Amino acid sequence: MQQYIDEAEKYILHTYNRYQVVFDHGDGVCLYDTDGKEYLDFVSGIGVFALGYNNKKYNDAVKAQVDKILHTSNYYYNVPSIEAAKAVTKASGMDRVFFTNSGAEAVEGALKVARKYAYNKDGKTDHEIIAMNHSFHGRTFGALSVTGTEKYRAPFGPMIGNIKFAEMNDLESVKALVTDKTCAVIMETLQGEGGIHPATEEFIKGVRKLCDDIGALLILDEIQCGMGRTGYMYCFQKYGVKPDVLTTAKALGGGIPMGAFLMTEEVAKNSLVAGDHGTTYGGNPLGGAACTEVFKLYEELGICENAKEVGSYLFDKLEEIKNSHKGIIDHRGLGLMQGLEFDKPVGDIINYALDKGLVLINAGTNIIRFLPPLIITKDDVDRMIVILKEAIENAY
Ligand SMILES: *Cc1c(COP(=O)(O)O)cnc(C)c1O
Repeated sequence: MQQYIDEAEKYILHTYNRYQVVFDHGDGVCLYDTDGKEYLDFVSGIGVFALGYNNKKYNDAVKAQVDKILHTSNYYYNVPSIEAAKAVTKASGMDRVFFTNSGAEAVEGALKVARKYAYNKDGKTDHEIIAMNHSFHGRTFGALSVTGTEKYRAPFGPMIGNIKFAEMNDLESVKALVTDKTCAVIMETLQGEGGIHPATEEFIKGVRKLCDDIGALLILDEIQCGMGRTGYMYCFQKYGVKPDVLTTAKALGGGIPMGAFLMTEEVAKNSLVAGDHGTTYGGNPLGGAACTEVFKLYEELGICENAKEVGSYLFDKLEEIKNSHKGIIDHRGLGLMQGLEFDKPVGDIINYALDKGLVLINAGTNIIRFLPPLIITKDDVDRMIVILKEAIENAY
């Protein structure tokens, strides 16, 4: 493995401090490195491999599409993306979709929708968007501009203009930023990268009402917390609220790069029209076939139900661990998206676990994030807990 790592560090731009492992293939909830060592995976490629690795039906659907056609461009219709559009609108309760190739690209589209919608109302181009501190929306300029971590934005200024940051779960902080120029509020229903902070029901309902009162759009970014991760197909469904614009990605393509932004018919009618937005690859037949199969398998395998059930088992187990270690200061999350916050950096714990065959990831320096494939069982949780305990004891 070391030779591969050395070559990677010679040729690939060093924008990640990578863990010292080269993964070769996966099966179910396990990953295998190039030396053949097995790892239990609690990261799923950052919430991508919800169905686990090497699902035969998924692989077959993708392979069959490879043999038919991979790309047509958006100047023509293609059946797989039509099927995918039906599936994702049905699952989310939204009316219309635009497919992208990544999460950041979906956020870019969502921001354009909000600005165009507001522009259509008053003809002005000075609208403001309210985003949340600790949020993460991606690395492109629009998405970065609404990302609530100063150090990600700082060296790349100026950002796109007229963005303000409020505190998650503090409705007054949002209200304080509202002006007659406010056109949208963007937030993750459950913050991921920023440290696993779920929106409270009171907050999300309050923001929904605020947006309705002032005529602004609510954009929910469910790129990480959507697609069954929390036990609901989309996390907002837990709260009985609905966004005007929704972004989704990560698990959407089951491993094929794929994202989407969706909206209500009302927003669609009054925002982007032909010529306003586009993408070469977005909505290509390969992504469409993958995404369609993903939704089929979610139903067949009862993915959301499993995430809910095993998620609550994981919650209990992590609560026990939290209560028995002084170094753990908080435990948050929903379903199979949870975090343990420690009183010091978690790098040592994660590296120790990796050595013992368990893949974990951080969210910020002090938080371990648990994002396993959504097919995991309680037994897998038990196996994980054994190694996690050992890793924590070793670090304290
Ligand atoms: C990962 C993520 C993004 C960015 O997605 P990319 O595919 O990496 O561009 C945006 N928002 C949230 C909430 C994410 O977790």
